[in-house]
Amino acid sequence: MIKTIGVLTSGGDAPGMNAAIRAVVRAGCELGMKVYGINRGYNGLMENDMYEMHLRTVSDIINRGGTILYSARSDRFKTEEGMQAAIRVCRERGIDGLVVIGGDGSFRGARDLSLRGVPCVAIPGTIDNDIACCDRTIGYDTAMNTVVEMVDRIRDTTESHDRCAVVEVMGRGAGYLVLNAGIACGATSILMPEVPFDFERDVIERMKRTQRSNKVHFVIMVSEAIGGVDEMAKRIQKETGVESRATVLGHVQRGGSPTAADRILGSQMGYHAVQLLKDGIGNRVVATQKGEILDFDIFEALNMSKEIDLGLYKMSNEISI
Ligand code: ADP
Repeated sequence: MIKTIGVLTSGGDAPGMNAAIRAVVRAGCELGMKVYGINRGYNGLMENDMYEMHLRTVSDIINRGGTILYSARSDRFKTEEGMQAAIRVCRERGIDGLVVIGGDGSFRGARDLSLRGVPCVAIPGTIDNDIACCDRTIGYDTAMNTVVEMVDRIRDTTESHDRCAVVEVMGRGAGYLVLNAGIACGATSILMPEVPFDFERDVIERMKRTQRSNKVHFVIMVSEAIGGVDEMAKRIQKETGVESRATVLGHVQRGGSPTAADRILGSQMGYHAVQLLKDGIGNRVVATQKGEILDFDIFEALNMSKEIDLGLYKMSNEISI
């Protein structure tokens, strides 16, 4: 019977993490568990930096971006010494279950801890949506809407000045954010890591073709995995004659109040994680597929792969001309 659990956020933060923390704390308290909020990810666990959370500790956070537990990356935790320090702290505090909210790097840590006797349940919190077992990760919907809002603003000014905007979008090695936001913004070209591209054919020629039907302002959206937006803007200007500007959206994409979808997903996943721990089940990743909340073995989840919808990419190319 699990009586005391800890919750931490690790790796890159994502809007909706607070909703998940809130759900973990409230669901844990409802079950009569003691719940520790651990600061700054695995660092706080190794350094015993934590505090007991109660029902009201998580009041007024469901609407807030970032994470009230702060997040961090830790190289020490990847070593056996760091892992043992974390296990020692869990024993001292009586923590017999842990909820880890983060990306796949954080999941590896959760798997390693589970294998060493501290049952962990991982929750996918990342704007990149790059978790294979999961259709949507916490933060992705908010980030996508933020990108759309920002690009809409850029579009206003490209329209006023007959310009081309070349916009870099986050996503690490995955193109979900740039593809879906790109469709929502009507980008003339979307460059993402999953699809090899020929700049001349996929950007310059597409722009020239649309120029022939009297289009005079353009948005090109580029994944951070490809980068090089400054050089792209210069090349576009030289080859098409359209004045071009590059914008790197950067961390604006990681902040802000979570959308309803991310608040709901965070709540569902946090709640589900506690139900697993309640039954002594660890080494699981909570996921969502086709609207259903499920869980997978962490090791299996880390070895899964998911395909980006190339039909969406093709559609975008056919209608954004
Ligand atoms: P994310 O969780 O967003 O993918 P990282 O990849 O930076 O972010 O991972 C977050 C933290 O998880 C790392 O700083 C480290 O402490 C821990 N971690 C990452 N990979 C491993 C691993 N292979 N073994 C143990 N811990 C890991």
